[in-house]
Amino acid sequence: MSLPFRQTKIIVTLGPATESSETLMDLLNHGVDVFRLNMAHAGHKWTKQIIERIRVACDQTGRQAAVMMDVKGPEIRTGFLKHPLTLEKGDLIDLVHRREQGIATTKGVRVVDVNYPKLAKHVKDDQIIMVDNGLIQMQVLERSKKRVRCEVTSPGELESRRHVNLPGVKVDLPSITDKDRSDVRVGVEMNVDLFALSFARDAKVVESFRELLVKEGSDAEVIAKVEDQHAVENLSEIIEAADALMVARGDLGIECPFEELPIIQRRAVKETISAGKPVIVATHLLESMIEMPVPTRAEVSDVAGAVSEQVDALMLSGETTTGKHPIECVRVLERIARRAEAELKPALTDELMLLQPRLKLLRSASALAMQMEDSAIVVFTRTGNLAMKLSSLRPNRVPIHVFTDNPRLQPKLQMRWGLDPFVMEFSEDPEVTLGQAIKHLKEIGRVAAGDCLVAVTNALAIDKVVETIQLREVE
Ligand code: PEP
Repeated sequence: MSLPFRQTKIIVTLGPATESSETLMDLLNHGVDVFRLNMAHAGHKWTKQIIERIRVACDQTGRQAAVMMDVKGPEIRTGFLKHPLTLEKGDLIDLVHRREQGIATTKGVRVVDVNYPKLAKHVKDDQIIMVDNGLIQMQVLERSKKRVRCEVTSPGELESRRHVNLPGVKVDLPSITDKDRSDVRVGVEMNVDLFALSFARDAKVVESFRELLVKEGSDAEVIAKVEDQHAVENLSEIIEAADALMVARGDLGIECPFEELPIIQRRAVKETISAGKPVIVATHLLESMIEMPVPTRAEVSDVAGAVSEQVDALMLSGETTTGKHPIECVRVLERIARRAEAELKPALTDELMLLQPRLKLLRSASALAMQMEDSAIVVFTRTGNLAMKLSSLRPNRVPIHVFTDNPRLQPKLQMRWGLDPFVMEFSEDPEVTLGQAIKHLKEIGRVAAGDCLVAVTNALAIDKVVETIQLREVE
């Protein structure tokens, strides 16, 4: 039996390159598990339209995908530009706050809007300001109350709403902004499954964000995005407070010395998985494919490395928002992930199985399935708990088919390593439920006659319900 599905999940950020119904269906058919809406760019009208389009595409393809709303948090960005601005080395630029059009010219010096009112107060003379993930750099020459005059030291094309990073500066913006609150209202109205919070710096902000969701009536999960040094310092408490973690390498690689990035990534991945929570590795996975139809060798190795670290999901950003080859990018991730899952030694499985002494039954199910060829785990869950715990043990090369009677759970499970979720009504009789599940898996080609299934299910033992493991050969 070949692996019926990938264990590492794929997240695609949507944008002009991927917003049509045809492309959404194509992405689903190529195995996308989660669609991400980046509220740094998305308006409310577009957000509502695209979520409706995703739901229709899921119905039409018969594939389910979760919807993630990524709120901007205290991000600093340049303003809207009608046309890209060419910045040459040595050019003078004035950074100002709230210039409507984003660009104007004062006495021959071009003006760029930045959404940080305290910029002039918080930068120092000679400081380097990084724009667009550091692709453009400028040095502060002088500051007045209203503007920061800079000289371009690394030239480039400035497009609309590019990131601005001030390495080492503790940015004084509220962790949850008014814009975030109004975005969240739209997300809750549209029933999104997951919210990602940018620049989550400590547990307190994650908790405040969750309170906001609860107040708005949402049970969606909170993904904390680790993007700066403060988050790295508070990593353990952030993992504890959040439902999931995103290693947001774009900002992280600028806010921290870049040589620290692989070290932070490995620590964050290991700590989050060990806590039984999902972890996403994001940004620059296939950056060169924004233009080119094939990845660089280094990108292939980076993706394979994240797969062998056993991350839950890999996330594409620019590659699928404005890139020229969005479908090809998903195909490339799919190919690398399958190959790496089949061949590379998983970083954590052995350790995780020892780390979780309390999960005896699930560890036994995992160990049993890993020992056999052509095996899979089948699990039945109403809360998702059993499935999530199984995923957190990372049973290498063993698909985990999850059956739940709660439709709201399916998308949440979709993002997690190794889980293959289905919604099905449960019968009073566990044996009937198991039989229906095996029949369904056989019908859709996930299992075949002769395969071994390790079923984690409830059974009636005289007068009480007990959790059991059963070994079933598919007939
Ligand atoms: C990142 O910085 O890597 C990231 C994912 O955040 P965003 O795309 O919101 O800037």
